[in-house]
Amino acid sequence: MSIKKKLLLQHLLIVSLTVVLLETVFFLGLITYYYTGAADMLKNHAVSSAHFANRYLELSGTPLQQSLPKLKEHFQIPQAEMQVLSPNGNILYSTVGFSQHDQIKTPDMKQLDASQANSWIGKDEMTHERILAVAIPLEDQGYPVGILRYVASLKNVDAMVIKLCTFAVLIGISIILIVMLLSITLANSLTKPLLEVTNASKQLAKGHLETRMNEHYRGEFGVLAKSFNEMGSELLRHEKMKNEFISSISHELRTPLTSIKGWSETIMTGNLEKKEETKSGLQIILTETDRLIEMVEELLDFSRFTNETMKIQRQTFLAAPLLHSVTKQFEKQLLAKKQKIELQIDDALELYADRNRIKQVFINIIDNAIKYSEQPGTITITCRQVKQAFVCDCTDQGIGIKTSDLGNIQKMFYKVNENSPGAGLGLAICQHILQLHHGKLTITSSYGKGTTISFTIPLLSSSFKSSGGSD
Ligand code: ADP
Repeated sequence: MSIKKKLLLQHLLIVSLTVVLLETVFFLGLITYYYTGAADMLKNHAVSSAHFANRYLELSGTPLQQSLPKLKEHFQIPQAEMQVLSPNGNILYSTVGFSQHDQIKTPDMKQLDASQANSWIGKDEMTHERILAVAIPLEDQGYPVGILRYVASLKNVDAMVIKLCTFAVLIGISIILIVMLLSITLANSLTKPLLEVTNASKQLAKGHLETRMNEHYRGEFGVLAKSFNEMGSELLRHEKMKNEFISSISHELRTPLTSIKGWSETIMTGNLEKKEETKSGLQIILTETDRLIEMVEELLDFSRFTNETMKIQRQTFLAAPLLHSVTKQFEKQLLAKKQKIELQIDDALELYADRNRIKQVFINIIDNAIKYSEQPGTITITCRQVKQAFVCDCTDQGIGIKTSDLGNIQKMFYKVNENSPGAGLGLAICQHILQLHHGKLTITSSYGKGTTISFTIPLLSSSFKSSGGSD
């Protein structure tokens, strides 16, 4: 069953039950008020009339038959017919003048008691009209001499009760109808966003990643729509990233491969006697192969990092020897780009981190500083302890980065210049490695003047190291 139907049925059930319950209480109140009220009024009159009539019979010494005119005069009321009956139920006198010959045996005539009047509501045998009858014995010196009975027609009371009941039923039906209309509106307002999210998900599943939901809903549905749209944007971003990645990586792989292929052909078809030419060709092949290996390593890192399988293995090591060996690795590039490195590091500075991954961060940052410097200059690397953290700043005098690019260069595959070498993954991987060490990477730059790339990692206390803290 659909949610809409379920909601409507639930509302219908709750409202109908409430209305039925309230109407029952109302009907019971109505009946008590009109019928019991009328009976009580008649009974009170009968009791006080019988009391006075008994006193009259006792004091005057007149038999009942002769006292009838007096009783009529004093005890009749306009709302009801007054009857005086013999003790066995035959009518001796009636204010309507018409008298029935049969014995009256209605329930109000049974078990009569002088202290209180009996009442009965039912159909009159003669007129078939609904009546209210009240009876009380008349006594002379303690002996029953007759019965005083009042009979009132219920025609008007019945009409009033029916009128009020019909009115109440109509109000009940109107309430149910109004609530049903409101329920339909409410159910629509609930099911509409659900239908929208279902349709939008189907569209997403079909690959239409630009599908979005309306965000104008309030409350939980608004949040759902927003999350759905965020999910769509994220999927779209991933799809775009994947496409960019494929095109960028194909381009990146193609350049060294073309160069390797070109030089291999040259060497094969050329004169092997020309040793110098062969050697420089082989050197280029070697460099390009190294570049390919580096790129494949970066790609593997990227896949580990997107699959969240990159793990770090901490060990204690001195930072200075590591940094010295890394800078040594760059001697050739530094010479080629007319750059020099100035290193300021405390020799005793000890780290508890993944040595190879931290080396990778150093390599990446220094490589960028050299790669993106076009004029001869100095690259200053300062490593120090600030409070409980290892802080390293690498400042170059290179091309710098525009403020508009600064916020993006840490993103995967982001390159300021599409033609520059590299896949745009280096800084993203560095950032991830530092995050795994609970550290962070910050970049400040002045376009045309130079860039400072800094990173911080917390220096773990010896207690953490000995307890074998892992990430
Ligand atoms: P890549 O491997 O392509 O260099 P990175 O993630 O290391 O990728 O760097 C992303 C981009 O940030 C680079 O394409 C470059 O434009 C810019 N960049 C990084 N470091 C520097 C720097 N020291 N000076 C100027 N630009 C830099």
